[in-house]
Amino acid sequence: MSAQLPDITTVCSEYQRLLEESQRALEIWTEARANVCQSRNGRAAGDELLRLQAKYARAYAVEQRHVHNCFLCQFVSRAKGRDSENSSDSLAETLYA
Ligand SMILES: [Zn+2]
Repeated sequence: MSAQLPDITTVCSEYQRLLEESQRALEIWTEARANVCQSRNGRAAGDELLRLQAKYARAYAVEQRHVHNCFLCQFVSRAKGRDSENSSDSLAETLYA
């Protein structure tokens, strides 16, 4: 086993903030999506759902852009390699599910 690398969140506080923001947006969207499945007033709920999805997509995009522009994040994500690829795959699946 190779040495344990630190998470980006422990190295870059700005990334941690952005990550928490997008995670929160994802949670709100996921919760709203579950509620819509059970509710009957489809149209308004659908609009709200799209708005929440867009909010999450934007937060996620900001997070990704930060990683591309931040030296610390670049350094850690390059060192971690495969891990970050896997997590972005699962996020993309979540986004288009
Ligand atoms: Zn950073």
